[in-house]
Amino acid sequence: MLELDIIIVGAGITGLASAIALSRAGHNIQILERSSFKRDAGFMITLSVPANRVLESFDFDFKRARSTDCDFINVYDGKTLTRRVSWATRGYTDKPNDQLRSLYRADLHDELKRLALLQSGDWKTPTLTLGIEVVSVDIHNATVHLEDGTSLSADVLIGADGERSLVRSAFTNTDPQSLAPIRTLRAMIPTELLLDDSETQALYETTKKNFSIYAMPDRRALVWYAGRDGLLQDLECNYPLHEGEDLRAELDDTKAKEKVLSRFGDYHPAIVKALQKATHVSDWELWHGTGVFSMHEGLTLLVGDAAHSMLPFTGQGGGQGIEDAGALSVLFRDINSKEEVSERLKLVEDVRRERTAIFQSLASLKMGSEEQFARENPGHLIHKTRVRSAETHLEFMSNYNVLEESEKVLAEYLEANVKS
Ligand SMILES: Cc1cc2nc3c(=O)[nH]c(=O)nc-3n(C[C@H](O)[C@H](O)[C@H](O)COP(=O)(O)OP(=O)(O)OC[C@H]3O[C@@H](n4cnc5c(N)ncnc54)[C@H](O)[C@@H]3O)c2cc1C
Repeated sequence: MLELDIIIVGAGITGLASAIALSRAGHNIQILERSSFKRDAGFMITLSVPANRVLESFDFDFKRARSTDCDFINVYDGKTLTRRVSWATRGYTDKPNDQLRSLYRADLHDELKRLALLQSGDWKTPTLTLGIEVVSVDIHNATVHLEDGTSLSADVLIGADGERSLVRSAFTNTDPQSLAPIRTLRAMIPTELLLDDSETQALYETTKKNFSIYAMPDRRALVWYAGRDGLLQDLECNYPLHEGEDLRAELDDTKAKEKVLSRFGDYHPAIVKALQKATHVSDWELWHGTGVFSMHEGLTLLVGDAAHSMLPFTGQGGGQGIEDAGALSVLFRDINSKEEVSERLKLVEDVRRERTAIFQSLASLKMGSEEQFARENPGHLIHKTRVRSAETHLEFMSNYNVLEESEKVLAEYLEANVKS
C-alpha cells in the first residue's frame, strides 16, 4: 500500500478530524495552521448522530470532551415562554442511545488535537505547525506557498481552511460566499450564575439537557444549549438586520453585551435576566455558500466549511466537516499508486457532495416548513430525500452512516478496477 504525503491547510474541527482519518489510513500528514491556538475556541457546538459515529470510529472520548446530551429540541415563544413544539432527538436510528450532543468547542478541539497527535505504532503521527499562514496554493501540484517565502509540496492537498478558504479561491468553479442579512450574538453564561436567582434557575431547569429555541415572529431566535458537562450555557441570539442596516457594519465585541440586551430586551424578563448574567458576548456575521461545483480539482480536495459553508440554524456545518473526514478514513485506504489519487478524490466527492448541498439549502429553513419548501422548489435535491417535515428532517440528519456509505462506494470501485 502506498503512503501518500498529504498537506492539510487548517487545524479547525475538519482539518484535525481529516488528519486523524488520513493518518490512520496509512498516510503521512502535515497540518499547517495560521493561528497559534492561544485563544480559547469558545462557544458550543451540537453534533448529530452521523458525526458522532465518525468520532467514535476515531476513539473520540466524549466523556473527556465533557459532552452534554440534548434530549429534546423545544421551541418556545420568546415573550411568554409557552412551549409551541417539541421533538425528541432520539429514535431515528436503530440504536436507542444515538442522539444529539453538545460540546464546548475548546473541549471538542482539544480532544481532536489529542487524537490527531497521538503516538502509536499503528500509524505515523501527523505534524502540526502553528502560526504559519499559507498565502497561495497550486492545487494541481499540491503545493503551498507560505508567508515566510518557502513552499511545500505533497501528493495531495486538503483545504480545510474554513468558510473564507484561500484554497477554494484557486478552484476554477467556485461558489461565491455571501454575507447573510442575519447575525448572531453569542452569550456565554457559567451555569452557577443562573442558580442564584429563582427565575433564571427555573429557565435553566427547562433548558437543561435540551436544545431550546426561543422564537419571535420577526425571525429573531434565541437558541440555548449547554456544554462542558452542563457547566456552561451558550445563548445564541440570532437577529435579522434592520431595514437599511449595513451588512458589512463592523462587529464590535466591546459593545456586544449592550447590543444583545437592546436587541433582545423585549424577550421574557427571565431571559433578559439570564442575558444580563453573560460573562462573554460576541457578535458574529454569518457567511454561507450554495455549494462549490466541485469539491476536488487537480490534486486538491476541499472539506468542511471550505467546501460547503452553511448558515448555522440547523447546526450541521461542523458535523458535515466530520462526516467528510469519515469519508476520507475509508476512501483513502489501500491506495496502490499515485494515479489512483484523483479517482479517490472523486469518490469522496461522490459520497459527500449531494448530502452537503442538501444541508446547505435546509440550513436556511425554519424546522417544519420543509413540505412547503419542497412544493415551491420542484427541481430541488430535497426531492431525492424523504425530508418533508421536522421529523423527517431530523431523520435525515440522524439516520446516516458515512462510513458504511463510503465502504459501499469503495467496494464498488475496487470491484470495477479488478474487472477492468
Ligand atoms: C453561530 C454559529 C453556530 C454554529 N453551530 C453549529 C452547531 O451547533 N453544529 C455544527 O455542526 N456546526 C455549527 N456551526 C458551524 C461550525 O462552526 C463550522 O461548520 C465549523 O467550525 C467549520 O470547521 P472547519 O474546520 O471546516 O473550519 P474552521 O473552523 O473555520 O477552521 C479553519 C481553520 O483554518 C485556518 N486557516 C484559514 N486560512 C488559513 C491559511 N491561509 N493558512 C493556514 N491556516 C488557515 C483557520 O485559522 C482555522 O483554524 C456554527 C457556526 C456558527 C457561526
